[in-house]
Amino acid sequence: MSTDIAQILRKKELAREDIIRLLQVKGEEQEALLDAAYRVKAEYVGKYTYFRGLIEFSNICSKDCFYCGIRRGNKKVQPYVLSDEEVMQAVRYSAEKDWGSVVIQAGERSDTAFIERIDSLIKQIKAFPGKELGITLSLGDQDEATYRRWFASGAHRYLLRIESANPELYTKLHPCDARHDFQRRLDSLKLLQKCDYHTGTGVMIGLPSQTYDDLAGDLLFIRDMDIDMIGMGPYIEHEDTPLYKYRDTLMPLQERFELALRMTAVLRLLMKDVNIAAATALQAIHPHGRERALRAGANVIMPNLTPVKYHGDYSLYLNKPTVNEETDAYVRGLEAHIHAAGDEIGYGTWGDPVHYKTRTGKEINK
Ligand code: SAH
Ligand code: SF4
Repeated sequence: MSTDIAQILRKKELAREDIIRLLQVKGEEQEALLDAAYRVKAEYVGKYTYFRGLIEFSNICSKDCFYCGIRRGNKKVQPYVLSDEEVMQAVRYSAEKDWGSVVIQAGERSDTAFIERIDSLIKQIKAFPGKELGITLSLGDQDEATYRRWFASGAHRYLLRIESANPELYTKLHPCDARHDFQRRLDSLKLLQKCDYHTGTGVMIGLPSQTYDDLAGDLLFIRDMDIDMIGMGPYIEHEDTPLYKYRDTLMPLQERFELALRMTAVLRLLMKDVNIAAATALQAIHPHGRERALRAGANVIMPNLTPVKYHGDYSLYLNKPTVNEETDAYVRGLEAHIHAAGDEIGYGTWGDPVHYKTRTGKEINK
């Protein structure tokens, strides 16, 4: 290992240049980076992986992000919305398995019917007999009244990726209108913190024209915004999106995968007590990609509990996995890989991010 990498890894504070250097290491230097991140994880949040049952509630979206397969402009998408029974089946499975939390994710809608439907689901999940599950939402930009309403009904975490913290790059990824405005996304994140949510964000890695400097900026943004939970994964092209035309300019998928691991590791060095989710997109590149991220400092996995018949319709990117994760055989395999990575599984707890307590002084359910 070169002396400068060993020196950087010993530093208490990483400068932008250090981060850019770490994001490019390979081979044994990358292994040293990942090991350092895993040691920080073990010390600050423990060698635990928390499960959250992921429910992809609906693929109907009012937005038109240039990278995403379920964008409004993709007329090939077969719209679906899960029934209450389908949602509660996934909730029941999470409860039976003693996973502490579920995530409700969907395309963005802000009409009254949608807001009320989500509100009703939150209340039903909270009332699930014998088990109070933690609820994470990932439903895009909403107004303050909606965030507050869902929080009052029992949701306490919210994931809203900034996608790229560089406003110029962000603008290239979205239509130029008020709904897709960078400032709106940023304001939403701040609103979520103001409304007391455990606040999550993240970025895509390996986007067209994205540089190492951009990625270092993303990590520093996450640190400076005092974010509690992070989900970031490789950008993967989708043929029915405007960005597909840049596919020949992208890093090979395998490199995007390795870079995503290094981003995870550097983030863990920068933010020692946050929760980091192993992105589903890692699994589209490697069947056990998510488990690899645990060694790099991630501590959350979100097994997909959406009924299998809808998987093909929630196609954000190419090769999004369509395996049925709601089977005991699958879960046993996942658990075996997690143990092999060195972690225990955090059963029976919400697995809240320690950072929320550090940031707000409020109690958490860990
Ligand atoms: N509509 C909500 C939540 C669903 S999309 C929202 O946008 O916040 C969830 C995440 O999927 C997005 O934040 C984006 O980072 C990711 N995503 C979308 N298209 C992708 C692609 N082509 N490759 C990788 N991730 C993608
Ligand atoms: Fe809709 Fe989210 Fe996809 Fe953008 S990323 S098109 S908001 S589902």
